[in-house]
Amino acid sequence: MLSGLALTFELVTQGPTSRREVALTFDACQTRSPAGFDKKIVDILCKKKVKATFFLGGAWAKAHPKESSALGTEPLFEIAQHSYFHPHYTALDKRQALADMSRAQDAVIKTTGRTPRYFRPPYGEFNSDTLQCAKQLGLKVVLWSIVTGDPDKNVKATAIIKTVLTKARPGSIVVMHVNGRGWHTAEALPGLIDGLRAKGYRLVTVSDLLRTKT
Ligand SMILES: [Zn+2]
Repeated sequence: MLSGLALTFELVTQGPTSRREVALTFDACQTRSPAGFDKKIVDILCKKKVKATFFLGGAWAKAHPKESSALGTEPLFEIAQHSYFHPHYTALDKRQALADMSRAQDAVIKTTGRTPRYFRPPYGEFNSDTLQCAKQLGLKVVLWSIVTGDPDKNVKATAIIKTVLTKARPGSIVVMHVNGRGWHTAEALPGLIDGLRAKGYRLVTVSDLLRTKT
């Protein structure tokens, strides 16, 4: 069933390989227990004028109204969504999936003033119901092609930089975390950004990466 549906539902793991572009993405995951915000990440992106896409959890946005509003007003940033309570979508029925996803959409619009076009399922887990709900809400499902491993305290900044610079290809989508659980993310960012630029990559939003025109 899923393989047949996959043709009609868009699932993105990377952009076209025809342009030397990479998208840095930052998830703000929040379950029913509180998460944080790593402002250093945002400061570095702004200082280096780096475009990025933030996948905000609805519960996170609601708990961080000031930060969400600031992200929404920064022209370098694109705002996407990352569910409301960060559930395992494969454990939800379709009604529950739609409720969580649409609640997140409302919360992110309300707090950022921007309307997400992309949905990233928590843990990268999805099924045909997830894809149908996203389509119903006008959202494309976006995963990633490079995992930095930044939620692991033992993954040092040097390792994050090495992973990204080794795996980067035209069209890559890199996943990191801005919710205070990306332990060495901010520390890695300057080297990661400079390294990608030195390799000739433009850093773009997911929308830029997926655009059809050159
Ligand atoms: Zn997450």
